[in-house]
Amino acid sequence: MTNTAAARGRLIRAMADRLIVHAEELTVLDQAIGDGDHGLNMKRGFEAVLAEADTLAELSLPEVLSGIGKTLVMRVGGASGPLYGTLFLTLGKTLPTDPSAADLVPALDAAVAAVKARGKSEAGQKTMLDVLVPVLEDMKHGGDGLPGRLAAVAQAAAEATVPMRAVRGRASFLGERSVGHMDPGARSSALLVDAVVAWLEEQA
Ligand code: ADP
Ligand code: MG
Repeated sequence: MTNTAAARGRLIRAMADRLIVHAEELTVLDQAIGDGDHGLNMKRGFEAVLAEADTLAELSLPEVLSGIGKTLVMRVGGASGPLYGTLFLTLGKTLPTDPSAADLVPALDAAVAAVKARGKSEAGQKTMLDVLVPVLEDMKHGGDGLPGRLAAVAQAAAEATVPMRAVRGRASFLGERSVGHMDPGARSSALLVDAVVAWLEEQA
């Protein structure tokens, strides 16, 4: 993995740009089963990340991830701010300064466990975990086609939230009426996975 300031800057911008470009789509998803703020929440958080991208990129990769986590906690708000904040803060805490591909699985494992603890949630409840958990499981599986195949795994996992009934977060207030819509947090997680995978592939 190329781990220069320029490469770290590209990673930061790849994630931020992806969420900012798709903010309207996330808003529409959250309008269907939530309060319609997920797109703006993520946009606000990642615009703040973009504003500090040059400074962050000079830091080590774990520090970059922790820095993103802190900014997301402060700027995103809603349920997703502390949860995405926890994800990035834990990745930053767990990854070594110069990680190999093999270091990614234990780091994501710890980060997903931290999100579960923070959200008191599990996969199957129509949340971001319904993307993060299958992506982690697929990484653990190993074999051919990594990391590229993770983008398809993440997108299929986001689509698989459509028939689910929400039992966590605001969408759970709708009960059965949450069925038939993609979870906004699952979609934002798939967008993040897609951006990271594209970055990893460009490194190869
Ligand atoms: P809010 O629900 O406060 O308006 P957002 O709209 O920004 O916050 O984020 C909603 C997303 O957060 C949901 O689509 C879901 O994926 C995720 N989410 C909400 N509660 C939880 C939870 N307890 N565990 C995991 N993810 C959650
Ligand atoms: Mg919302």
